[in-house]
Amino acid sequence: QLAIEARGLCIGFAGNAVLKGVDFVLRAGEVHALAGINGAGKSTLMKILNGLYRKDEGVIRVFGEECHFRTPQDARAAGIAMVYQDLSLVPSMTVADNIFLGHWASNGLGLIDTRGVAAAARALLAKVGVEAEVSPGDLLGSLSPGQQQLVEIAKALSTDARILILDEPTASLSNHEIDQLFAVLMRLRAEGVSMVYITHYLRDIFEICDSVTVLRDGRAVRSAPVSQVDQALLIAEMVGRDVDAAPS
Ligand code: ADP
Ligand code: MG
Ligand code: MG
Repeated sequence: QLAIEARGLCIGFAGNAVLKGVDFVLRAGEVHALAGINGAGKSTLMKILNGLYRKDEGVIRVFGEECHFRTPQDARAAGIAMVYQDLSLVPSMTVADNIFLGHWASNGLGLIDTRGVAAAARALLAKVGVEAEVSPGDLLGSLSPGQQQLVEIAKALSTDARILILDEPTASLSNHEIDQLFAVLMRLRAEGVSMVYITHYLRDIFEICDSVTVLRDGRAVRSAPVSQVDQALLIAEMVGRDVDAAPS
């Protein structure tokens, strides 16, 4: 089953084509890398899948149903949640307030039960493996970058997302924090969460991704299982350089 199927996606800004007919498939239960150098169009594709940008052309199906996202709320209703590269969190607010900020913004402030919120926050912190170190009442700004990244994922999961889209999640983490993040993502995958993993780091692709689409200059130049991908060839495809068969 396909979690996301995108066909022929096109978008341009002020007459400049940025995505030029992108095909992209995320199989249910997989982690699919969207790989490409700066400017390839990764974030633009992500913003279309998240309802922030509207495609000019093309078709998007989520679990088989054609979707026309007009807002991020539409994408959330279809089960898609974003994990932003520049975290969407507020350092001066508590962990629980950060996790549920979006809900209150869309549902109003009328029905907040503080104890219920703390319990729900603790359950989400457990899902990302930091319930022992992070409390719902902690100030977000007092957490390490790795812990903040995990709170961002907890926030994404708070809408019962079945698909996560992560934009370069390891960019500002230490090696230890990266290991911890990967363990959490692998556990979520085992629970059936599908993921689009945007990155240009080979380590991330080869350690935790099942398959990869290479995006270059607004086109998907290749999709393949990671097990069938050669590292040197992948780099060449990302930067658009021809590689000759290496002499041995
Ligand atoms: P990536 O995430 O792969 O680095 P982006 O999707 O951010 O690439 O950008 C791809 C191209 O689209 C860039 O040339 C960028 O300048 C352009 N672009 C993205 N968003 C906009 C926008 N809102 N208006 C104009 N150009 C944009
Ligand atoms: Mg970029
Ligand atoms: Mg980007």
